[in-house]
Amino acid sequence: MEVVKMSRVKFYYGGGVPLEMHKVRIVQKLSLVPVERRLEALKEAGNNTFLLKNKDIYLDMLTDSGVNAMSDNQLAAMMQADDSYAGSATFTRLENKIREIFGTEYFLPAHQGRACENILSQVFVRHGTVVPMNYHFTTSKSHVVLNGGTVEELIRDEGLEIRSSLPFKGNMDTDKLKSLIRERGADKVAFVRMEAGTNLIGGQPFALQNLREVSQICRKNGILLVLDASLLADNLYFIKTREASCKDMTVAQITRTMADLSDIIYFSARKLGCARGGGICTASRELYERIRELIPVYEGFLTYGGMSVREMEAIAVGLDETMDEDMISQGPLFIEYMVDRLDKVGVPVITPAGGLGCHLNAMEFLDHIPQSQYPAGALAAAMFLVSGVRGMERGTLSEQREPDGSEVFSNMELLRLALPRRVFTLSQVEYAIDRIRWLYENRKLVGGLNFVEEPKMLRFFFGKLEPVSDWQQVLAKKFRADFGDSL
Ligand SMILES: *Cc1c(COP(=O)(O)O)cnc(C)c1O
Repeated sequence: MEVVKMSRVKFYYGGGVPLEMHKVRIVQKLSLVPVERRLEALKEAGNNTFLLKNKDIYLDMLTDSGVNAMSDNQLAAMMQADDSYAGSATFTRLENKIREIFGTEYFLPAHQGRACENILSQVFVRHGTVVPMNYHFTTSKSHVVLNGGTVEELIRDEGLEIRSSLPFKGNMDTDKLKSLIRERGADKVAFVRMEAGTNLIGGQPFALQNLREVSQICRKNGILLVLDASLLADNLYFIKTREASCKDMTVAQITRTMADLSDIIYFSARKLGCARGGGICTASRELYERIRELIPVYEGFLTYGGMSVREMEAIAVGLDETMDEDMISQGPLFIEYMVDRLDKVGVPVITPAGGLGCHLNAMEFLDHIPQSQYPAGALAAAMFLVSGVRGMERGTLSEQREPDGSEVFSNMELLRLALPRRVFTLSQVEYAIDRIRWLYENRKLVGGLNFVEEPKMLRFFFGKLEPVSDWQQVLAKKFRADFGDSL
């Protein structure tokens, strides 16, 4: 597609790969431990990739949260941070940058994305209210539920199709939204939440046109529209490259249009802006005053909200850099490369390629494992075992049981292999592809998992599981046989 600078570079002899528009100036050494050690490490971690230790991991594709590469300008800005409890110049710089980018007058800082969700849910969610959203995110749902509300997912049906060529699988179904408002009454809707780059269903974007339609419905019914902008960068890239009517808009113009359509924007700066922190933005004085009260209670004073001044400087620069197409295209282009390579050789992946990472479809990859034995969790464990690559389960394990103890089977069983921005090289991506292909050929050796320790809330973070049989020993033995003394 012509509009993106990074992808505009053609290779004279055909083929071609995504070409980086940055150079590497700081590196961190990695190690790759043998499969026997990986087997032990997996056991120590209770088959939960969240509980693995970094020293046992070769490529950490768990998440992009807080681990995107930072730029020279971000690091330089961190050195100039103005440290003070109240009224620091750093906060003013961040506030001004947010005003410039989103056009929102008011900014409330918070220590990360879920802190924003806690505060917004406490302010707006009441017992018996509902929060319609294109799709839920784990922490956003937990906060709504903790405050007595329920979540309704109004993703278009096609959004849940694994293989598709639809450019905007993250779109909300506006007919479903209208009927929900009709049935429940606008006063029972706490707010409508649109998530950019839908995290749990493959980093799939929504179209600007869809946000426009949702916004119109909300305004007509006097309902607040909240934009979760944590994964905004990828969504911006996709709007720019996939939505014909936006191709002549700059990234900054698209961002501003999205902001104008929303009443409240919040974000995790662990993703957006490539630093660590978060915040809530609004143009409404009234909303600002309602939300503001809770910031000092949970986060900190209004000019830091739990963030260090260094991080706030890095966020201001990172947000600015997000308006650069070369910056926001790197992730999606690498992901597209990985997804297309796997798709071509028949490995089941979510298509089209989205943001955040490459998503393997565990329901098909491991179609012999029932959902009650967590196929996506089993795939995450198997992938680590055969490669040292750590991914994240996004399936039934990431759901929460019903109050009566029954399982909520997830719509999708995914292993997400995140590609933090500008962190991995293409040869490392090639290595991951090689090991995934080998695992796919040997998939019948993989078995399921059962819980041995199961927390009630957000169980995927620290729950422990065990394999249903000795399949991990068998898989490790096959690996040794096929790879010889290679790691
Ligand atoms: C990560 C994420 C959050 C939560 O942000 P944290 O900084 O991890 O608390 C919320 N929404 C989306 C879409 C996310 O990806």
